[in-house]
Amino acid sequence: MIEDIKTINDFDFENQIVLIRVDFNVPVDKYYQITDDTRIQFSLPTIQKILSEKGRIVLISHFGRPNGKPSKTYSLKFLIPFLSKKLKLTVDFCEDCIGKNVEKKINELKNGEILLLENLRFYKEEEEENENFAFELSKLGNIYVNDAFGVSHRLHTSITILPKFFGKKKCIGLLMQKEIQFLNKFLSGKGEKPITVLLGGAKISSKIEIIENLIDFADHILIGGGMSYPFIKIKGGKIGNSLLEKDNKIIEKILFKIFDKCQEKNKKNILSFPKDVIIADSFKNTANTKVSAIDSIPDGWAGLDIGPLSIKYFCDIIEKSKTILWNGPVGVFELTNFSLGTRSIAKAIAKTTEKGAFSLVGGGDSIASLKMEGCDNKISYLSTGGGALLESLKNKILPGIKAVINNT
Ligand code: AMP
Repeated sequence: MIEDIKTINDFDFENQIVLIRVDFNVPVDKYYQITDDTRIQFSLPTIQKILSEKGRIVLISHFGRPNGKPSKTYSLKFLIPFLSKKLKLTVDFCEDCIGKNVEKKINELKNGEILLLENLRFYKEEEEENENFAFELSKLGNIYVNDAFGVSHRLHTSITILPKFFGKKKCIGLLMQKEIQFLNKFLSGKGEKPITVLLGGAKISSKIEIIENLIDFADHILIGGGMSYPFIKIKGGKIGNSLLEKDNKIIEKILFKIFDKCQEKNKKNILSFPKDVIIADSFKNTANTKVSAIDSIPDGWAGLDIGPLSIKYFCDIIEKSKTILWNGPVGVFELTNFSLGTRSIAKAIAKTTEKGAFSLVGGGDSIASLKMEGCDNKISYLSTGGGALLESLKNKILPGIKAVINNT
């Protein structure tokens, strides 16, 4: 089915008004300086190709969570100087997303010109799969391009409903095409073996379901960070005050399914957990710390990073791998005293990639730790979507991708 998707290479853009859904939801500091511009950088090839082919571009995006109301804090206007500099042309801005003013501005666009519209989420309808809002947006262009991988798992109007109004004139951009290609390397099971997946972080319930699917094609699944504690607890270990989600009963059910599937597939040793962890008596950088076995953490203490034995154990597996996927830190890496594990993993993946392995890393925190170590440029592909990447790993076609598959 993925083969049916058209890309921007299948269209002639001269004289066309192209509505591109991008994901410019970038992190900024309090002065609106962009602290990580990866998402924008990765969308530039799509924009530049269409401009060079004399198309007229209308960019639509969301930014933050304005809760369906216009707000200065969440305006996309701050991006104009940045985009104009990157594209070496003046990018125009419109303070609305639909209506007569926008339509007038678009009618004045000439070939090779570009207009950015205000934050789509200033309309509550954006997050409600709203047909009327989609219809109004559809008046703004005659070809629809989705280059917003980071939100393509969301059931939002500009992602799932808007493309329906473009008949066969809809496709994906180059960022999206790359994300799909690299993900397919994993999901097809054709990645070079050994295949290792490392899952960390704190959103246990959203990641745990993926593991069942990973068992089919991975050789090693390393579980670190907050993700590891429900497993240790269910195996009878003492985890003290370490991270557990409230709905532990549902998680326990999923864990039993995972253990059953490992048995059934004869992959009893596929799951690996930290052996030792750095425990702390409070959730602070200045906390008292000591090293503990992961399954005997005293009450009042919480595991906040993986320990030296675990670093070695995980890095040895990574360094023997030929295909690596990583999502989520193995500790509270934002606090320097609990960042060594995550930074060591980042370096090991970069080193193994330099030796010829293929690596795919997704999720803001994992990418941030690669940047801390100055090795983000060594990774084969940095995914622009954390949640979208995880959803794809459930082996589902994302709603945003489904919506541009030609079925009309
Ligand atoms: P996620 O969005 O699921 O990738 O989670 C990222 C967050 O997980 C980061 O903010 C980390 O500080 C947090 N994290 C990682 N390991 C732990 C841990 N052992 N205890 C508490 N939080 C953790």
